[in-house]
Formats: sequence, structure tokens, C-alpha cells
Amino acid sequence: MTNFGLQQKNRITASLVFDTAWRIGSGKEGETMGDLGVMIDPKGQPILPGSSLKGKLRSTCETLSHALGLRACMLNHEVSGVKCTSDVNYYHKVREAYQKTLKKGLQARLQWIDDNTCDVCKLFGSPVQAGRLWVSDGKLKDWASVVQVRDGVVIDRDSQTAVNRLKYDYEVIPPGSQFELCIDLENPTDRDIALLGAAVFEWRAGSSIGGFTSRGLGRFHLEEIKLTGVDLQDPEERMKFLTATEAKDRLSCLDDWEDYFTERIKQQLKSTTEIEES
Ligand SMILES: [Zn+2]
Repeated sequence: MTNFGLQQKNRITASLVFDTAWRIGSGKEGETMGDLGVMIDPKGQPILPGSSLKGKLRSTCETLSHALGLRACMLNHEVSGVKCTSDVNYYHKVREAYQKTLKKGLQARLQWIDDNTCDVCKLFGSPVQAGRLWVSDGKLKDWASVVQVRDGVVIDRDSQTAVNRLKYDYEVIPPGSQFELCIDLENPTDRDIALLGAAVFEWRAGSSIGGFTSRGLGRFHLEEIKLTGVDLQDPEERMKFLTATEAKDRLSCLDDWEDYFTERIKQQLKSTTEIEES
């Protein structure tokens, strides 16, 4: 019988450090009267939304999936060649088939979902199945306490040159700001862990998030990465998880996150290529 309860939980925490200025647009004029504002809270402090972090994490996983021998639908099955219900057009085509499996019982339904969901959407969620990964809003640890304004020039798309006298300005948060990152995983498969692990390695080396990244904004890297977890099949861990007074004591620290992820990545590559390691 399939067990739907919580069996395993993992949490990755890290410091996300911006090496350059960055901006997550507010979609309106900024507090500084800049044409393009940044997202700030009522105290005037920058916001790094969990939805932006999750979106970036998803695109990192999509990019890395091929190297790991995993499937990514890129939300477009015609372009990617990967069948997945997260692509609205594909879902419309197969919705009737899906509804038929609902009458055939739980196992048939789960099998159908498995066959019609790519590896990235299994982790991040799809219209027919909840994801196994959550990303919290970044918790501000440090910043320069000032929003900067930069000048932008309107570029003519055809000639790729600046249009005379057409300027705008946009707000950025200066380099050096730091947030606490928190990613939660529930009942991950070995594939999920390999995929997320590869993304954590990439983010540690450096990636970019937010607007105007092609102009060099939004470069960040991770520091102080920690991996904690609980295996609820283990009676001792289960007891600790259920009775700990403080949230931080519910999960045990896994000694070496690099070894843990590297092992899962190795296993995944081995299962894909079936080539013995030298
Ligand atoms: Zn997908």
C-alpha cells in the first residue's frame, strides 16, 4: 500500500550573498521616484520573495536536468519533446485519459501521473500533483540600508543603438546584501535529491536572479550551507521530531552536505549511463 504520510523531511539553509547590485521589480514607480521600483517592505527593507527564489531554482534545475539524465518539460512539450501535464496544451490533450484513470483506482492514477510528469515538475509540482519542495521568503540578514537609482537608456531594437534623449531610471539594491535561504523537501526521491543537490552546487559557485541580469545585475552565491533532516522510519528520530521544544531541534544536522549530494548525483549518473565508474 502506498504511504502518503510524511516519511522524510530535509531542509537546506544557507546565506545568499549578492556580489552585485540586484533588483526584483515592484511593477510600479519606486520610493525614490525611480521609474522602475524595487520590492520593499513597509519598513523600507528589500524583499526577496520565495516565489522568485523558487522560480530561479526551477530554471536552474531545468538547465541541469539534461546533464543528470533527467527529463524537463520546460512547460512546453512540443519544444522539449517531454510529455508533462504542466504544459497546458498537453494537459488539454490528455485530460480525458487522466479522468478515465481516476475510475481505475489509486495505483492506476499514480502510475498515469508518473508517466505524464517530467522529473522537474515531480519536484516542483504540476496541476495533477503537489510538489515536494518549498522555498521560504529570503530573511534579510544585512544590507546597505539604501536603495540606489541607476540610469537606463532606451535601445532601439532594430539598430541596437541608443534612442536620442529617451532615458529612464531604475532602482537597485546595492551589492553585499545578505539573506537567509531556506528550502524544504518532503519525501524526496533519490532523483529529487540529485537534482536539487546539483542546483545547490551551482548556486554556491554563483548564479543570478531578478531583473536586468544581462546587464550584470543580480549575481549571488551561497555560503554557510547546512543540510538537516529527519527520517521518520527511525523510531529515535521520530520521537525527537514529535517532541522537540524548539523547531531547530526537530531536524538533525547531516554532517557533510557535499558528500550527501555528491553520492546521490553519482547514483543518478550511474543509473542513467550504466557505465561503471573507473
Ligand atoms: Zn514538467
